[in-house]
Amino acid sequence: MPSTTKGQQHTRQIAITFDDGPSPFTLEILDLLDQYQAKASFFCIGSQILCYPEIAKKIVEKGHVIANHSMNHPNQMGFLSSRKVRIEIEVANRAIETTTGKRALLYRPPFGVSNPHIAKALQDCNLKSIGWNIRSLDTLNLDEHQIFARIKKRLSPGSIVLLHDTSEKTVHVVKSLLIELKANKIEAVNLEDLLNQKAYEN
Ligand SMILES: [Zn+2]
Repeated sequence: MPSTTKGQQHTRQIAITFDDGPSPFTLEILDLLDQYQAKASFFCIGSQILCYPEIAKKIVEKGHVIANHSMNHPNQMGFLSSRKVRIEIEVANRAIETTTGKRALLYRPPFGVSNPHIAKALQDCNLKSIGWNIRSLDTLNLDEHQIFARIKKRLSPGSIVLLHDTSEKTVHVVKSLLIELKANKIEAVNLEDLLNQKAYEN
């Protein structure tokens, strides 16, 4: 992987991001991140936060970023009225805030879907939408070696990797990825540090 320079600063950094948690697999991922001194960002579903509030708190306590991925991850997110979209986003932010004390500023759209209703709701809620440039396909029917190979092939400085903290398979992929990053002296940082973008209002 080539390195780039940003001013005088040598930047060999990427961001690992997780969607759809928290879940019991998040705990295994948090342990791995600790072990490899890596930071990550978690786009959590509000209803999952209500199921696993202690895990959501742990994400923040360990210096990772917690962010909004809607309240219920509705399949029809792209077809909801602007009022319903706004509720999905606002209620999720409230779940994050009451659980962790953080007012999230970052959002990732379920299924990557955007439209004018969603854009307006994000603007009203003061949230910034964050995408990715490496889609791991870890929720599809690929094995952990295929998923890791996909990521490895595409890694470059500034990459934002999309994973899901919802399966044991992804836990194994994360371990391979952290080993690979360490061997190549690439740092995994949270999105605040990678994008120089505030993750919280407070
Ligand atoms: Zn999702």
